[in-house]
Amino acid sequence: MKLAFPIFALLAAAAVASAGIADARPAKPAAPACDRPTFRVILDVGHTAQEPGAVSARGVPEYDFNLRLARRIAAALVKAGFAHTVLLLTDGAAQPALLARVQRANAMQAQLFVSIHHDSVPEFLLAAWEFLGADGRFSDRFKGHALFVSRDNARFRQSLAFAQLLGRALKSHRLEYTPHYTLKLMGPRRRLLVDARAGVYRFDQLVVLKDARMPAVLLEAGSIVNRAEELSMESPERQALIAAAMVEAVEKFCAAGRQ
Ligand SMILES: [Zn+2]
Repeated sequence: MKLAFPIFALLAAAAVASAGIADARPAKPAAPACDRPTFRVILDVGHTAQEPGAVSARGVPEYDFNLRLARRIAAALVKAGFAHTVLLLTDGAAQPALLARVQRANAMQAQLFVSIHHDSVPEFLLAAWEFLGADGRFSDRFKGHALFVSRDNARFRQSLAFAQLLGRALKSHRLEYTPHYTLKLMGPRRRLLVDARAGVYRFDQLVVLKDARMPAVLLEAGSIVNRAEELSMESPERQALIAAAMVEAVEKFCAAGRQ
């Protein structure tokens, strides 16, 4: 009989709620879903100083672009309260460096891994030109960013969720993704577009994505062989837009507790 009153009270409360009348009692403060100071994002700087990846239309190594943008994103994340953000820099030749960066990332107990790259095109699409008296190679055919996730990552669903958040955030800043990875001419670099709104592709075999034990996404931030986009990628304004989109996506991912 002792329980009669609480049960009655509960039923009464349910009736009030179903009638659409607001409960006047103060709501219990919810536990924060996102603890920014302890939420660790690894920003992986693509390639190494020794093997710097693609070469821009004006002869600048991709690694320089990756490092500059990753630093800018890291600063924006730290400013937003994600104090544990880590910039992952790797040395040496490509293959050992690839394995080393995944091992180091896995040892760091991070909630998110984002690899920062800048895009090029297959060799046969490149044309010659001269810039400041030096020979360069370019292709103005494609521009825009692209996001990649691996189905073989142990946290594939979370990886995809973050990539979609980032793709939408980039779009909200008027940045367009490139659809050219769906084209037949891309040959072995052709990818499956899994989210046509957010610009997310599957790249299952990519080592840094499949072997990372946390949700992992690779961002090709823009094409540096496109002569106009290369200049844009060098501008602090474009870098700030990408950094702002990254902060928004990390905030939403962290708040959703998906990690
Ligand atoms: Zn790259």
